Amino acid sequence: MYTENTEQFRNKRFDIPTTEEEGFKILDQIYPLEEKRMALDKTKEEFTGDEHFELGMWIRNNWIHRPEIDDPVLSQRYDACYAMLSGEEDAAYPFRHYDDLSSDFLAKYYDHLKATCRINEPVEEIQRKPRKCPHCGGKVLRIQYGHPGPELFEAADRGEILLGGCILSPDSPDYACPTCGQAFRRPYIIDD
Ligand SMILES: [Zn+2]
Repeated sequence: MYTENTEQFRNKRFDIPTTEEEGFKILDQIYPLEEKRMALDKTKEEFTGDEHFELGMWIRNNWIHRPEIDDPVLSQRYDACYAMLSGEEDAAYPFRHYDDLSSDFLAKYYDHLKATCRINEPVEEIQRKPRKCPHCGGKVLRIQYGHPGPELFEAADRGEILLGGCILSPDSPDYACPTCGQAFRRPYIIDD
């Protein structure tokens, strides 16, 4: 088991997506591994219900509610994001409630997770730490086992490592991709 701080994504600022693929990519980065693991065990209705005030709120705050700024480029991105979320071209007439827009996208993200999340796939053997995940291109992180002190918690918050907990077995993975969940292990070598 390896986890991330589930609070860490809430303070990050991300781009405004204009396509579903961009939106999935952003959520893959901010949605913690542990939550992805739990999401795979839920029905779509359970997922969208449970995430309404969590990931759904994040979508509404970051992609739908516009900040009070006068920036035509950003404004265009919000328009394009609204069109993507709603299927409506004209962002000046938001007929649909924000809650519905985020719920619809959560349902699509659930399908995306079911199709692409590799958290339940077998651990892959590799010779060395891959620079990028061979499945999704995400950043692969080392898993640190043992009881973490404050500096390890901070490193995990910065997205530099994953925390693996105190139980270590020969099968435990050495690295994992927090974007898609694939875990990796170097072959177990016995020194003579
Ligand atoms: Zn990956």
